[in-house]
Amino acid sequence: MSKMMKAAFLPGNSTVEVREVTVPEPGHGEVLLAVKASTICGSDIRAIYHEHLGKGPEGYQGVVAGHEPAGQIVAAGPGCRRFKVGDRVLVYHISGCGVCNDCRRGYMISCTSDQYRRAYGWQRDGGMAEYLLAEEKDLIQLPDSLTYLDGAQVACGFGTVYEALQKVGIDGNHAVLITGLGPVGLAAGALCRKLGAEKIIGIDISPERRNIAQSLGLCDSVLAAGLDNVSEVRELTRGSGVERAIDCSGNADARAVAIRATRKWGRIVMVGEGGSVAFNPSPDIIHDQKTVFGSWVTSTWLMEELAERLVRWNLHPEQIVTHRFSLAQASEAYALMASGRCGKVAVCPALE
Ligand SMILES: [Zn+2]
Ligand SMILES: [Zn+2]
Repeated sequence: MSKMMKAAFLPGNSTVEVREVTVPEPGHGEVLLAVKASTICGSDIRAIYHEHLGKGPEGYQGVVAGHEPAGQIVAAGPGCRRFKVGDRVLVYHISGCGVCNDCRRGYMISCTSDQYRRAYGWQRDGGMAEYLLAEEKDLIQLPDSLTYLDGAQVACGFGTVYEALQKVGIDGNHAVLITGLGPVGLAAGALCRKLGAEKIIGIDISPERRNIAQSLGLCDSVLAAGLDNVSEVRELTRGSGVERAIDCSGNADARAVAIRATRKWGRIVMVGEGGSVAFNPSPDIIHDQKTVFGSWVTSTWLMEELAERLVRWNLHPEQIVTHRFSLAQASEAYALMASGRCGKVAVCPALE
């Protein structure tokens, strides 16, 4: 008789269903993880929780939710080459075909195979369950000194931010603006700090999120989102604007602020998904020689590198987790995340 486990599903009407399902068995090249931590992403709320809005890579196919899992391997199928029972791992959250050009670069996020690209928690069962079936090629080793909650953060938010910061380059010459201080914006603050940014300015509409950013020391200044943001950022940077801006909001006004509050020769990177932006190319980017980057998730190799850097920096992404829930309380966890009155929200199946 097969073993049963609790797993959370998102029917798309702002509720969560926790059901009993069969514990899967690993096949060739697959492992079974005991999930220790599984965090909720802004994209889960935006594209699945309230309504199933996602298409293509964001199309939710009624699977177990959760794409930010970390856990311990409890069974390994035949053919595994590196990982074994007992290993602590996090899961790169998109399982690609492994052989297209994007997969070969490590960017399974943009795998071009319609048949084989399946994201955990979107098109294949994800981490909001006691156990998760994962492909060995999707695993990243979790260093001993990092917690499972640290690992879950690397699996999506911190990994995504690390990629974006690598694209624009961050160092001690740079004042940085972060628009949107949700978990991804907070991660940007934490990583910019370790990369040596000279000054970090954050903007958010939510007082709770501004407080978290300031109390954790992730921003030097925080501003309430508003019409004066561009001049406020210039005042904080001796009239010049920032060298680097990272949009983590997905909001049209905040994106325009990120572009306009960046100084000549500066770089802007967009990470927050959805929505739109309006700006005037000549004054806003062309005449000031600015560059706007887009950045989507990260690669397996850069995620592995980030896990190593976190150890060297003694940086624990867990610090932005403000709330922890058991699987049975998954509906409270998603409702809180949807409210925005929190940092990162985690479900830990071992909590009761
Ligand atoms: Zn995510
Ligand atoms: Zn592929």
